[in-house]
Amino acid sequence: MSINTDAESQFAAIGLGGNLGDAPKTLCFALEQLAAHAQIHIIAISHLYRSAAIGPEGQPDYANAVISISTSLSPIALLDALQAIELMAGRERLLRWGARTLDLDILLYGEIAMQSERLTIPHIELYHRPFVLVPLADIAAARVLPNGHRADELAASCSRDGLALWPDLRWPSTVE
Ligand code: AMP
Repeated sequence: MSINTDAESQFAAIGLGGNLGDAPKTLCFALEQLAAHAQIHIIAISHLYRSAAIGPEGQPDYANAVISISTSLSPIALLDALQAIELMAGRERLLRWGARTLDLDILLYGEIAMQSERLTIPHIELYHRPFVLVPLADIAAARVLPNGHRADELAASCSRDGLALWPDLRWPSTVE
C-alpha cells in the first residue's frame, strides 16, 4: 500500500486542450476528474484561452489552460491517470466514435528530465507553444524552467497571434 504524504508529493504542470464540442465544458470535466483523484491536488488553474488550431485548416479553435498540481503519482502513473480522463471525455461523453476531444499533457514534473517510449518530460513542445507558455506564466510566473528561463519571460517573448482569453463563467480560474 502506498501512503500519500506531502514528503512524497511532487509539483507538476499539466496542459489541457480540446477543440471538439463544447471545449470549455470538456476542460471543466477534466478539472473535476483531476480534483477527484485521491493522489492529485490542484494548486492553481490558469485563465482559459482560445487558440487557433495548428494543422489542417477549418478546425475549430482550441480551448487551452494549464494547471499546477502536487501529486504522489509517479510520472508514468500520472500519464495513465491523464489518459484515462482523456478516454472518458472523448469516448463516453461527447463523440462516441470520433476524434479526441481532450488532450492532457505533462509539461513539467518536479525537476525531472526523462525520455522514454511513452513519456518525454519536460514536454517536447513546452517552449514552442504560446498556448502553453502564456497560461503557465499565469500560475507559475517566477518558476525557472529547465532551460534556465523564467516562465513569465518566455511568455512575454512569444507571439500571441491567434491566442486570446476565452471568457467562460464556468471556468474556475484561480488567478486574477
Ligand atoms: P498527443 O496526442 O499528440 O498529445 O500524443 C499523445 C502521446 O504522447 C501519448 O501516447 C504519450 O505516451 C505521449 N507523450 C510523450 N510525452 C508526453 C507528455 N509529457 N505528456 C503527455 N503525453 C506524452
